[in-house]
Amino acid sequence: MGDHADLSADVVVVGAGAAGIPAAIGAARAGAKVVLLEEDPVIGGAPSDYYVCLFYGRPITGVNAELEHLLKSKYAPTPRANFFLPSGYQRAWREILSAEPNVRMLTGARAVGVRHKKGTETPRVAGVTVEVLPGVTFDVTGEITIDCTGSGIVSELAGCTIMYGREAKSDFDEGRAPEKADDSVQACTWMYFIQGIPGAKPSDRADWRPRGVHVNVGIPFPDAEREPPPKPVLPGETDPELYLQWGGGPDGFHGYDTRDPLSLAQAHAEAYQSLEPEFARLRENGYTVHLAPRIGVRECRRVVGEHIMAEPEITSEKFPEDTIAIAEYGIDIWPKTEERKARASSRDRGKLEWPWQYGIPYRSLVPRGVDGLLVAGKCMSGTHIAQSSFRVMPIAGSTGQAAGVAAALAASHRQQARDLDPDEIRKLLGSKEQHLQLSFDEP
Ligand SMILES: Cc1cc2nc3c(=O)[nH]c(=O)nc-3n(C[C@H](O)[C@H](O)[C@H](O)COP(=O)(O)OP(=O)(O)OC[C@H]3O[C@@H](n4cnc5c(N)ncnc54)[C@H](O)[C@@H]3O)c2cc1C
Repeated sequence: MGDHADLSADVVVVGAGAAGIPAAIGAARAGAKVVLLEEDPVIGGAPSDYYVCLFYGRPITGVNAELEHLLKSKYAPTPRANFFLPSGYQRAWREILSAEPNVRMLTGARAVGVRHKKGTETPRVAGVTVEVLPGVTFDVTGEITIDCTGSGIVSELAGCTIMYGREAKSDFDEGRAPEKADDSVQACTWMYFIQGIPGAKPSDRADWRPRGVHVNVGIPFPDAEREPPPKPVLPGETDPELYLQWGGGPDGFHGYDTRDPLSLAQAHAEAYQSLEPEFARLRENGYTVHLAPRIGVRECRRVVGEHIMAEPEITSEKFPEDTIAIAEYGIDIWPKTEERKARASSRDRGKLEWPWQYGIPYRSLVPRGVDGLLVAGKCMSGTHIAQSSFRVMPIAGSTGQAAGVAAALAASHRQQARDLDPDEIRKLLGSKEQHLQLSFDEP
């Protein structure tokens, strides 16, 4: 059995996913000693757990640009791949992390509690309690903890105010919101890869193409079932017949409480059943299925911050003075099936509206009323509608990197994160070590 002694660092990052890894690297490059905690045995978050294996949204900048370069140059499944594989994603991050001596990574370590400093007027987080086996726990303490769990669980345990589900139209002046608030979240999707097996159905496979993203050719989702077969583009290149699929299609799976493991278990059971005809059809046509380890959760808790991002800021393309990450993506809600169908004739087709450019304010990373804590990625402070836009990996990564840099500054100044000067954070984010693009005018 390993040695499970308490640890301490300047910055504790919980969750080694799209936001958490850039957070850890950002903090380390800004001079902090970092512990990066991940409950899974492997790092990666959504690409490892849900097979979310392509970037949507822009810009891909900072640490993410280093990742993208490695994914393309060294870890791509094919020379001109449209998407990556979970293993490539993990290995690329491992390579980048191996050059960061100030990041100590602990996988298989789930944060199950929050340590608070004693005697402070405002609740102040001093790290987390980690469980590695039932009943085997230790503490990882630090000046600043960053919640990059995607579920906001650390912030909830810290006593932050949490949002869940849809806000009402009038709450934040959001035209796309329902009249009344409710607890429905964006659809879950169970992603999978398929691969054509040579000889499995050689005679008439050419007449049938699966939908999804083909590794070498375009993105023929969602109406490409009858498209002609994609042709390998480079002379002599063979077609690996590898596709990335959105199990459940544009409808996805609705009606589950994504905070509740039992409700998610039910989602898996029902998704297995409903995907079986899809899998049978693939098999008949000579494709084998590699299903992701678990169903993809787009939305869980969101943490109330000093600022709550909302639809009007996105659609009017606002860049607040404390912008610490820039974003370009649509409002991509994955609503309930009937709403999607009802809106199908309108401009937004009930789904992705593309794209707007806007700034993420630092205040949305700073939880309201709790010190010693920052939040980044899909659980940071925004409405259901705003989250449907800022949740994508390039943007989650930029917010993570910004949170990491801010945490390093707060730790070295012995200052609360909410009291930092955003200009100082922005200056460091623009530095040679960080390379985080903060304006679309930058080359
Ligand atoms: C089905 C689906 C399709 C998507 N498609 C795309 C797409 O095509 N392109 C795109 O860019 N984005 C896409 N997204 C969005 C994107 O994948 C996520 O929003 C993004 O990964 C969020 O990053 P994150 O770091 O906040 O969370 P995650 O990437 O989920 O990482 C969170 C990490 O925290 C860990 N963790 C959680 N709790 C604890 C704990 N208590 N202790 C320790 N570790 C913990 C988790 O294991 C995980 O590794 C999609 C999402 C889904 C679900």
